[in-house]
Amino acid sequence: MKAIRRFTVRTVLPEPLRPLGELASNLRWSWHHETRDLFQSVDPAGWRAAQGDPVRLLGAVSKERLAALAGDRRFLRRLNAAAEDLADYTAGPRWYQDQSDLPAAIAYFSPEFGITSALPQYSGGLGILAGDHLKAASDLGVPLVGVGLLYRHGYFRQSLSREGWQQEHYPVLDPNSLPVGPLREPDGSHAQVTLALTGGRTLTARIWSVQVGRVPLLLLDSDVESNQPAERDVTDRLYGGGSEHRLLQEMLLGIGGVRAVRAYCRITGHPDPEVFHTNEGHAGLLGLERIRELSHEGLDFDAALEAVRAGTVFTTHTPVPAGIDRFTRDLVARHLGDGGELPGVDVGRILELGRETYPGGDPDLFNMAVMGMRLAQRANGVSTLHGAVSREMFAGLWPGFDPDDVPITSITNGVHAPTWVAPEVLRLGGRQFGPSRAEDALMIGGAESWAAVADVPDAAVWELRRTLREQLVEDVRRRLRASWRQRGANDAELGWTDHVLDPDVLTIGFARRVPSYKRLTLMLRDQERLAAMLLHPERPIQIVVAGKAHPADDSGKRLVQELVRFTDDPRVRHRIVFLPDYDMRMARTLYPGCDVWLNNPLRPLEACGTSGMKAALNGCLNLSVLDGWWDEWYDGENGWAIPTADGVADEDRRDELEAAGLYDLLEQQVAPRFYDQGRHGMPQRWIQMVRHTLTTLGPKVLAGRMVRDYVGQLYAPAARSHRAVQGEDAVELAGWKRRVRQEWPRVAVDHVETDFAEGPGEGVAEMGSTLTLRVQVALGGLDPSEVDVQLLAGPVDTADRLRGPEAIPLKPVARTDVEGRFTYEGPLTLDRTGPFGYTVRVLPAHPLLATSAELGLVTFPPEAEGMTAGVLR
Ligand SMILES: *Cc1c(COP(=O)(O)O)cnc(C)c1O
Repeated sequence: MKAIRRFTVRTVLPEPLRPLGELASNLRWSWHHETRDLFQSVDPAGWRAAQGDPVRLLGAVSKERLAALAGDRRFLRRLNAAAEDLADYTAGPRWYQDQSDLPAAIAYFSPEFGITSALPQYSGGLGILAGDHLKAASDLGVPLVGVGLLYRHGYFRQSLSREGWQQEHYPVLDPNSLPVGPLREPDGSHAQVTLALTGGRTLTARIWSVQVGRVPLLLLDSDVESNQPAERDVTDRLYGGGSEHRLLQEMLLGIGGVRAVRAYCRITGHPDPEVFHTNEGHAGLLGLERIRELSHEGLDFDAALEAVRAGTVFTTHTPVPAGIDRFTRDLVARHLGDGGELPGVDVGRILELGRETYPGGDPDLFNMAVMGMRLAQRANGVSTLHGAVSREMFAGLWPGFDPDDVPITSITNGVHAPTWVAPEVLRLGGRQFGPSRAEDALMIGGAESWAAVADVPDAAVWELRRTLREQLVEDVRRRLRASWRQRGANDAELGWTDHVLDPDVLTIGFARRVPSYKRLTLMLRDQERLAAMLLHPERPIQIVVAGKAHPADDSGKRLVQELVRFTDDPRVRHRIVFLPDYDMRMARTLYPGCDVWLNNPLRPLEACGTSGMKAALNGCLNLSVLDGWWDEWYDGENGWAIPTADGVADEDRRDELEAAGLYDLLEQQVAPRFYDQGRHGMPQRWIQMVRHTLTTLGPKVLAGRMVRDYVGQLYAPAARSHRAVQGEDAVELAGWKRRVRQEWPRVAVDHVETDFAEGPGEGVAEMGSTLTLRVQVALGGLDPSEVDVQLLAGPVDTADRLRGPEAIPLKPVARTDVEGRFTYEGPLTLDRTGPFGYTVRVLPAHPLLATSAELGLVTFPPEAEGMTAGVLR
């Protein structure tokens, strides 16, 4: 295709309507209902046609209508009030401005951002989480700068063939008709970044900026004329293409992204980030670019690595190996080696960062998550369970440490309430508590505000649920008709779609991407049993399903087809539907309209899951496997836990057992409770569960809570480390680590003794007695100030392994006659009955380490002097 120049005619707004342009160009409209209402009143029919996208609306609205509005004093009053409100929101102090000792700025990198369906740059949970992170940061006043790519086709649009096979479409997204604008250099030119590629080629990308409330989001787009065709295609689509294509995308995101941030700060005067947050491994190359910057300033690799690590936060998002990027070392060496983009950075050192140095690791692969861990001093998973799973999964990178001590913490994901709570729910909340309290509840998560939900009368809750369900039913019918027309049906055949679903029937939702671990078709395990539930004469259920399979995943597409075929059956098609093209817009009607949100992943592969949180915020009850966030917050009253057959290795058998558990719950608990509508025709116990869900889960599942956790637990400590590890301090820390690594083979625990009667070995002691522990330790050339010697004591299991031991510091009391050997001492109080044990370990210690596991160095006594076990009576 010949390159054509594209132009988009931007509407010229009459002077009094100028603020409409400002409101449209700040994506705050996507979660601010008053602003959306204002756009709707510009042209209600046009708003529907524009699918709720103000830029499209303004591009299509007639001159006459604009002229009329420009003279409509009521409209202008509303317009000016909205513009003023936005100005206050973006300029006034917020939560962050009341805190102290926090980073001046944080750069947040992600391969996808789901902010609104009008900017379709996301595929699923990871992107929507990133969007919610930006929005919550904006609400809280956190000085975040987002960094991502602008994909020409975004992710694909899904439709179905007549046979129910997934079809993919890739509409072209013209930046000029998206809510993005060019970042301009002082001379007015469009700011860009350039990367040198191997073979003398260059990759240039333009920097676009999107305003997400207070937070700028920079997006890089390689579709520029000065690029060769191959380079133009680097940002063609999200998660498409082969390995090299992915690597180029990640180079642009990581390396180009840092350059874009520097350009943004230079042009706008925004403070430089003190913390860089990598949302999953895809953006991890940002750490290498920052090493290059520092090498350029004269630091050697090790010192630059320390400086970069200090201010980097890495979040891992999946325990599924297929979700982690791994490239061949050759490919990485080719692109990041000599003549590549990172001059002055030793490619051998780069390759070491991504090496899978644990048992079972592949020596030929470069693992982006492993590199992420090594380039970040602080790392986290996204739910308590996922934190534990990640510590197990990556434990090999910290040999000698128990998984419990692996330095990966967790911050449970959250969702942005103003985006995901239906306006009807907000209105009820506003009426009940007054608008300011409702705002406090949604943004800050004030538990007292949520507690007030307990006072909402049954009738109001039930009426609200019915309204939301009815809206979903209408939306489903409309979407189903459109889908069938697309599948080749004509209107005469589609009369039945007018009667699909029933606004008074228990409604269950299931929507998510279709990787195999999410088990889209588990519900089809026993089709007769499912059909019987759908068609039950007194207690029927109805199910709405949606989800996209990755374009390269034929087995996922087969699952979609299997499900679609079931929903096509005339016997049940009025009770179960598959809606194609799951996106944020569909989600916003779907979650609130369901009574029950179903989730049945293969535990523990769902890192967190967020759709159930969005459902819960609208009073929908969760029915889920105890995985991700549900493992943490299910309390027996806020929904149901599908029993899992953990440990059953035969997957088919496991599916069988878990599907049976799901059916049992639906038949015996969920449906009976929903239809127990005795007095006043309302299910009181159900309504009680809805209220309980809102009061107890409401404050927890918020993205505002999540972002405050990130600020307090990761960003603030990372900024302090960043300030402490610069220049000479970085050189010194790197030198110290080198010396410790060199000396460590000489570190040993030579002898452990107590005033315990039998000495090491089996023994019986009195409850409540205190022993003195004395240990001889060899430190090689290290000084006692450079190590921690700890007593580990606690209960032991049947295999004589310590379980969750307490670490008690021992003190050096004497230097022995032998050079480099010291005596350490400390008390051990025996205050627990039952089998117990203790041992001693030596760890490196330095005030600039985030945890003592950081270097992956630890020394225990040799086997013979090993753990002492005993029984307390
Ligand atoms: C929230 C959301 C997701 C992620 O849901 P999970 O429960 O994490 O699978 C995916 N797609 C859309 C459109 C969403 O809104």
